[in-house]
Amino acid sequence: MSGLASALDELAGEQLAQLSDATLGADVVELFRIAGRLDAEILRRLAVFDARGGAAADGALSTAAWLRSACRLAPGAATERVAVARALTELPVTAAELGAGEISYRHAAVIATAATELPAAVTSDAEPVLLEAAHRYDPATLRRAVTRLRTSFDPDRAERDAEADYGRRKLFVSPILDGLFALDGLLDAEGGEMLLTALSALDYPLPAETRTPAQRRADALVELARRALAGGSLPEGGGERPHVTVTVDLATLEQRAGAAGAELAWAGPVTAETARRIACDAGVARVITAGRSEPLDVGRRTRVVSPAMRRALAVRDGGCRFPGCDRPPAWTDAHHRKPWAEGGETSMANLLLLCPSHHRYVHEGGWRLVGDPTEVITAIRPDGVEIRPP
Ligand SMILES: [Zn+2]
Ligand SMILES: [Zn+2]
Repeated sequence: MSGLASALDELAGEQLAQLSDATLGADVVELFRIAGRLDAEILRRLAVFDARGGAAADGALSTAAWLRSACRLAPGAATERVAVARALTELPVTAAELGAGEISYRHAAVIATAATELPAAVTSDAEPVLLEAAHRYDPATLRRAVTRLRTSFDPDRAERDAEADYGRRKLFVSPILDGLFALDGLLDAEGGEMLLTALSALDYPLPAETRTPAQRRADALVELARRALAGGSLPEGGGERPHVTVTVDLATLEQRAGAAGAELAWAGPVTAETARRIACDAGVARVITAGRSEPLDVGRRTRVVSPAMRRALAVRDGGCRFPGCDRPPAWTDAHHRKPWAEGGETSMANLLLLCPSHHRYVHEGGWRLVGDPTEVITAIRPDGVEIRPP
């Protein structure tokens, strides 16, 4: 062990600046192999420690509990390592390949898990097949190969497992601090497939895209909800179609100084500008108050922009009017250039179609749009630079 530590000290002391890229790359690959070999050694010792009940000497109730506390592992990670260590004692070829750095710990873990899922009689036949795949594919792909093997070797059990997996489905959508929502969930194969199919259909790229893939998926999920609400196909509750309601002080809509913000039913307080954007298009019920609790206008969800006007806007604007944006009309909100709270009319002249991202630019982002909507719309960046359509 001391030899290993001093070899690592020597590596850590090397100056990397003068090494060539090719050498550094080769080092990374070689160190990965060595990391696999180290993992193999951890598991080999862990298996013996486990078989002897070594954890009991420290008062731990199980090897996994001991490992969790001794190495500060997450519960799942500790349990997995003990299970893999045990399984590898029955999978000598896999253990040897990990020990030689031919496969990684994650590959070995997939094969070890497969050994517990496949009928005992076929494990010895399956091991070389899986090892062969482990040499070519990443662990996630290997895992899919296992699933296919399981289905072909033991269709009944695969069926039962799929049922059990289905029972684990869940979704948590929890408001957290700062008005954000945290999503956490598990879907069965078909549900996940359906969601991803819908999300990818709604993942419409922006010109000069700056969003991360995760931000694009988040936007697509919200778009899915927006369309479901706007499409009117959701079941009614309390005699009304479900819709988003914003409760906002008149002073806030009129941008008077010192005005209170606004509230959404589930999300709670939102900033004044966000409220103005949400209230900008129709489809959102506005409950306008004067002061704390005196409702002035419990706005019915009147379609401020009538379907006919909406069609006319779609023809005139052809989609988002932000310079260079090509999102089609179905993606857009009708933005009141002069807010209706300030006397802005719901007329063709005062409306512009904007996609949700660009609608946000104009309200929260400090961008301005100038120009006649029947001609060219120019965007002015917060720093004053003009962006014209290409
Ligand atoms: Zn707007
Ligand atoms: Zn746009």
